[in-house]
Amino acid sequence: MAILRGECHCGRVEVCFETALSPGELEVRACQCSFCRRHGAKIVTDAAGRLVISVEDGALVRYRFGLRTADFLLCRNCGVYIAAVILDGTEERATLNAAGMMIEGLWDRAAEPIRLDHEDAEARRKRRHRNWTPTKVVVETAAARGSG
Ligand SMILES: [Zn+2]
Repeated sequence: MAILRGECHCGRVEVCFETALSPGELEVRACQCSFCRRHGAKIVTDAAGRLVISVEDGALVRYRFGLRTADFLLCRNCGVYIAAVILDGTEERATLNAAGMMIEGLWDRAAEPIRLDHEDAEARRKRRHRNWTPTKVVVETAAARGSG
């Protein structure tokens, strides 16, 4: 069991990624869509893992494009791309940008390019259900978060 932590550039968004895999066993991928390429995103998922995204109140921007099937989360303050999130039934699932959140052992690894733009909305939903990490987005006030 590894607990991998990271944060955005300004620290208003923190992530905690629990996975049974070691960082070396996790596949690091470079999605070739027009959004991910602009951010230099390196994405990781573990459907058997767990991700918590802790956000200072007001720090989150949700962006949609293309088939509009996922929310791409960005820090409103520093602009870092954090993760893409879907609602899968009653559960949220996400793919984490290990580069943006500078996750130790993952962010500087070479990423395998993947192309997913051939998918329709249904194929996309099924793949995300299969692969993405069960996720919770937690919004906290600045006071509750403290200074560190
Ligand atoms: Zn930030």
